[in-house]
Amino acid sequence: MKLQRILPYAKQLLHTAVQEGDIVVDGTIGNGHDTVFLAKLVGSSGHVFGFDIQEEAVNNTRDRLKVEKLEKRVTIVHKGHQHIKTTIPAELHGTITGAIFNLGYLPGGDQSIVTMPETTILAIEQLIEIMKPEGIIVIVIYHGHEEGQVERDELMTFVNKIDPRLAHVLQYQFINKQNNPPYIVAIEKC
Ligand code: SAM
Repeated sequence: MKLQRILPYAKQLLHTAVQEGDIVVDGTIGNGHDTVFLAKLVGSSGHVFGFDIQEEAVNNTRDRLKVEKLEKRVTIVHKGHQHIKTTIPAELHGTITGAIFNLGYLPGGDQSIVTMPETTILAIEQLIEIMKPEGIIVIVIYHGHEEGQVERDELMTFVNKIDPRLAHVLQYQFINKQNNPPYIVAIEKC
C-alpha cells in the first residue's frame, strides 16, 4: 500500500514540524514509544515533556528511555496533561514545536483508565496557546472502545469549531475499514 498508514503518518507530521534542539510534548507517554521517538527527534540539545497519570506508564517510559540512554532529554511528569501550561516553564512558552497525544488506554495495562474528553480538550487548548506558530499537535484517536467513541465525538465537535485564524485542522483517516481503526487529527497553530 502506497498510502501512509496512521502511525507512520503521525511520525511524519512530527518530523515536518520538529527540528533538533526543539521543545516538544508527549501528552500520553504510556509505554514510552512516542517519547523515545520524540527524544531522538529533538536530539541532545532539545527537550521532551512527557505526561501520564499512571505510575506504570511513568515506570515503563523511564525504563525504555534508560535502555536508549535518552533520560536526560525528557522530563517525565506524573500528572494529567491538563496541567501542561502550569508545568512547562513559562520561559519555554512560545517555543514548543510539536506534540503528540495517543488517546485511549495503556496497552497491556488497566483498560478502565482511559483519556477523557474534558481533560484532552483542556490540554489541546493550552497547547495551542503556548505553542510556537507552525507547531503541530498530532492526536491519534482510538475509538474502538465505548469511552473512546464518546471522546471522539466530543473532540471532533471541539476541533471542528477551532477558529481557522488560530489553527489549521486536518483529519487523516481510512474510511472503508472495519472495527473503528484509529485515525489522526492534526492541528497546526497559525
Ligand atoms: N503513546 C503511548 C506509547 O507510545 O506507548 C501510548 C499511550 S496510551 C494509548 C494512553 C495513555 O494515556 C495511558 O498510559 C493513560 O494512562 C494516559 N492518560 C489517561 N489520561 C491522561 C491524562 N489526563 N493525562 C495524561 N495521560 C493520561
